[in-house]
Amino acid sequence: MDSSVNSLHVIRPRAAEGPLSPREVEIVTWLAQGKQVQDVATILSISAHTSATHLANAMRKLGICNRAELTYEAIRLGIVPCPCRECAADRLEVAA
Ligand SMILES: [Zn+2]
Repeated sequence: MDSSVNSLHVIRPRAAEGPLSPREVEIVTWLAQGKQVQDVATILSISAHTSATHLANAMRKLGICNRAELTYEAIRLGIVPCPCRECAADRLEVAA
């Protein structure tokens, strides 16, 4: 099986990454899936201010400065799965 194409998309969590707290990972996960900071605050039953603080900390730790990069890094780090069709199909195959 030729995996050279799909390897572009393979999720490679950095070993012993863990710079983000579990709360920060939760927030990054929701944001990467399109939620707003206020939505995440509601979901997690925390204040918008706390949510924004966790987000700011996560972005600083990841060395990024905007939401587009946040989504990219979240996928790259394996916090959220790559949403492209090829990877989604791969995951279905693995699950089957
Ligand atoms: Zn992909």
